[in-house]
Amino acid sequence: MNKISIARMKLDRESCITCGKCVRSCPMQVDVLKDIYSLECIRCGKCAEVCPTGAIDFKFGKISLAPNEKRGK
Ligand code: SF4
Ligand code: SF4
Repeated sequence: MNKISIARMKLDRESCITCGKCVRSCPMQVDVLKDIYSLECIRCGKCAEVCPTGAIDFKFGKISLAPNEKRGK
């Protein structure tokens, strides 16, 4: 789990369109849709970066990495 990590991730299933971009972008081959809290996850934030709908909320400490579409407006 995330106990010793200061990075947190959350998947909003209602926003997810199951495009699979997050899974394909993951350098650790984590299946983000099935196991977002995988121990293999290195909290790089790639999956959140590529998500077109902003379904993945990735926070590192107090910094929130929101996808481009969320930032724009
Ligand atoms: S944060 Fe990085 S390692 Fe973790 S699931 Fe997302 S892309 Fe994979
Ligand atoms: S990239 Fe975003 S919308 Fe696509 S499957 Fe992953 S979480 Fe869902």
